[in-house]
Amino acid sequence: MSVVVVGSANLDFVYHVDRIPAPGETLLAARSAQYPGGKGNNQAIAAARAGAQTSFIGSLGNDASAAILRRELKLATVKAHLRTQDGPTGTALVTLDGAGTNTIIVNAGANGDFADLTSAELDAIRIADVLLMQLEIPMETVLDAARAGHEAGCTVILNAAPVRELPAQLLPELDVLIVNEHEALILAGLADTTVRSAPNHAALELLRSVPAVVVTLGENGLLVARRGAETVHLPAFAARAIDTTGAGDTFCGAFAAALSEGTDVLHAARFAACAAALSVQREGAVPSIPDRAEIESHLH
Ligand code: ATP
Repeated sequence: MSVVVVGSANLDFVYHVDRIPAPGETLLAARSAQYPGGKGNNQAIAAARAGAQTSFIGSLGNDASAAILRRELKLATVKAHLRTQDGPTGTALVTLDGAGTNTIIVNAGANGDFADLTSAELDAIRIADVLLMQLEIPMETVLDAARAGHEAGCTVILNAAPVRELPAQLLPELDVLIVNEHEALILAGLADTTVRSAPNHAALELLRSVPAVVVTLGENGLLVARRGAETVHLPAFAARAIDTTGAGDTFCGAFAAALSEGTDVLHAARFAACAAALSVQREGAVPSIPDRAEIESHLH
């Protein structure tokens, strides 16, 4: 019943502006807000809200942003194993205009220096049922965590976002790969194709390396591909989308939570799609993540 997430945590600074400023221009924002972010942080909160006993292993800087992120994780009942590094916590600076156009600058900060997992961090991985990771921290750290988790019998999930080449040694450590359509095509070497069934081809290609592959397709739902079984297309749950930021993170966290209870990949994906559909109907990444009761009440 337990999930451990190893990944990034950022504080996002969002400035609401009438239009995106031109180079050299200074604009007044209509309002601004701070939100916890980073794929690791968001997915850990999503797993906890979906009902899993959840730990988060991450790296923060030595600043006020770190205190805010610690508090948010605690509020979400996530058990935090957080290092404090010299220098800044990861941040994202977002400008957002009224039409939904944005610019985003990310400073990886302490996420970029997250190396050499300690024995306490490795122990926290080994005792979990499910290990969930993304690619906003150094690849070496992802590889070390995956090896520890795999060896200890955890179900190891990689959400390969933001997409980059996966080292060959990482693939045998993975049980499930979660990617969106764009990421699937890049990883499968099919980025140039315009064939309509390309996501299916990509899923089958990736299945050669990982026993189960989930390709999320936004409002078109998702594909679940497992070795030895037909690929299944699950439609999205009906939703009036207001803000799709964080749909992928909500999906991954809820999926990990369901798997940790012994649910099979297909049913876990359906549970996660329900959670993600609920999240797109509200603003923000973390504030929009639904809890277990809400997911269950919409599942049938
Ligand atoms: P993001 O990076 O925007 O958080 P993503 O690209 O990683 O998202 P998506 O494929 O956009 O991931 O969405 C993940 C899942 O969320 C989808 O498989 C689907 O189940 C659900 N979802 C996304 N958008 C919608 C929508 N408009 N209506 C219903 N469900 C949605």
